[in-house]
Amino acid sequence: MNISHIEHIGIAVDNLEESIHYYEEILGLKCYAIEEVVDQKVKTAFFLVGTTKIELLESTSPEGPIGKFISKKGQGIHHIAFAVKDATEALKLAENRGVKLVDNQSRKGAEGLDIGFLHPKSTHGVLTELCSKQE
Ligand code: ZN
Repeated sequence: MNISHIEHIGIAVDNLEESIHYYEEILGLKCYAIEEVVDQKVKTAFFLVGTTKIELLESTSPEGPIGKFISKKGQGIHHIAFAVKDATEALKLAENRGVKLVDNQSRKGAEGLDIGFLHPKSTHGVLTELCSKQE
């Protein structure tokens, strides 16, 4: 699978502006990018902590994955993302090892990364994202 590090931790929030305020004013981190991912129905904000990022996710629709997550569970940690060499290959490898996938092949995520999710039913409860930078 070739995991090199935790790329980011995805956190579902009710309100991006208010959450950014907390991360900047209380924790002293700096939001370096805000990006909307239209097909995922989210607005994201990024913070760098060492080599790991915090990705805040605000839903733009109650029908989107983050909207559904928040209505069920409320705000909080949504997923953990591992950096791999090749997200498509890592997804295939996981599938071959019997892991249920959310994404059968990688797709474009925030920051232009290739990403794909493993199903929490197969990962002991943690929605797991695999992502790679295009070479
Ligand atoms: Zn993510």
